[in-house]
Amino acid sequence: MKNLAFKDILLKNNFFGEIKTGELLAGHSSMHVGGRAELFLEPFDEKSLILALDAAASCGLKYFLAGGGSNVVFPDEGLNLVICTRKLGKDESVQLLENDRIVCSAGTGWGSVLNFCKKNNLGGLEAFTALSGTTGGAVFMNACCFGLAASDRLLSVRYFDTQKNKILTYKTEKNDWDYKKSPFQPCKKMQKGGVAGDFPPLEGEAENAEAVGAGGRLSPSSKKIILSAEFSVTSGFDDELSLQVKQKRSELGHFRAPSCGSAFKNDPERKIVAGKLIDECGFKGFSVGGAQIAPWHANFIINPEQKARSADILELVEIVQEAVLKKQGVFLEPEIIFA
Ligand SMILES: Cc1cc2nc3c(=O)[nH]c(=O)nc-3n(C[C@H](O)[C@H](O)[C@H](O)COP(=O)(O)OP(=O)(O)OC[C@H]3O[C@@H](n4cnc5c(N)ncnc54)[C@H](O)[C@@H]3O)c2cc1C
Repeated sequence: MKNLAFKDILLKNNFFGEIKTGELLAGHSSMHVGGRAELFLEPFDEKSLILALDAAASCGLKYFLAGGGSNVVFPDEGLNLVICTRKLGKDESVQLLENDRIVCSAGTGWGSVLNFCKKNNLGGLEAFTALSGTTGGAVFMNACCFGLAASDRLLSVRYFDTQKNKILTYKTEKNDWDYKKSPFQPCKKMQKGGVAGDFPPLEGEAENAEAVGAGGRLSPSSKKIILSAEFSVTSGFDDELSLQVKQKRSELGHFRAPSCGSAFKNDPERKIVAGKLIDECGFKGFSVGGAQIAPWHANFIINPEQKARSADILELVEIVQEAVLKKQGVFLEPEIIFA
């Protein structure tokens, strides 16, 4: 009934985008795992994204907000409603402002951003070459590639605050960001000794803090939906650097099997490298069901034959966490988001 009422609101208000039913979520995750979504929405513009968010709230429907799905494992049993940003602002997804800034729609993939930079001879973002996912996802995660964090070049973010029901602009304050932490991640009331430490809520947010999920995981969806992000750029695209980054990813085995990239966060401050600790516990090649610790990269959980269930991946995460805590005294915070 709620789904019907939801669809009715969308159709009556000229939702511009795709509404799919029974969509297989495995096809929308780089891990290739997940059951079906009763409703899978791909809005083509911000207005329709906000319409969908509003309609979900008024119908009392929970949703998962997905970008490129490159850091997400969807549940085996599927989800009722997934709203995906990948088709947002298709035609004008990257724009140049005064030669030193670009604005990217949240659904823009990094391939398009880097192509735009190359075409317009703009530098500064080459380290993000061949990163999977969208700019919105990278801002949410504060993705960090070869020493460059998304926040290093981020100037501002336009976002829809689902609690205030408003579009707001956030100007980057360095103190709001940390290694793989962003102010768009739901803040936490408690932390089970996570490697990177807790992240302070923005002013006035403490009362809305959500408890950390089982095993110290982040709650999956933000209440602040990123619509677009503005990054600083320099003049001159560095082709060689971009190529080196791509080669490095290939050497590290990023493209050898379905994965979500690093499964656990490092802790640069404490010089903790998750992959090293996992390797020292002898986990390379270790499997649970169809999920495996990559034989070539201890911090990658892979789905080599595309037979893994999300339950296998979660179990593997928990086994590794427990073993590393026992042997090395370090609780590893998962980077993978379980939707
Ligand atoms: C082979 C491989 C290599 C990788 N290498 C790296 C790497 O070098 N560095 C790194 O940091 N990561 C890496 N990753 C992980 C991943 O690519 C990044 O975290 C990426 O930025 C996630 O973007 P996404 O659009 O796919 O987000 P998703 O996976 O779709 O979502 C991730 C989270 O962001 C939230 N989200 C997405 N879009 C929005 C939005 N518009 N507003 C609010 N919340 C949003 C989602 O709700 C979810 O909680 C790698 C992944 C793979 C598969």
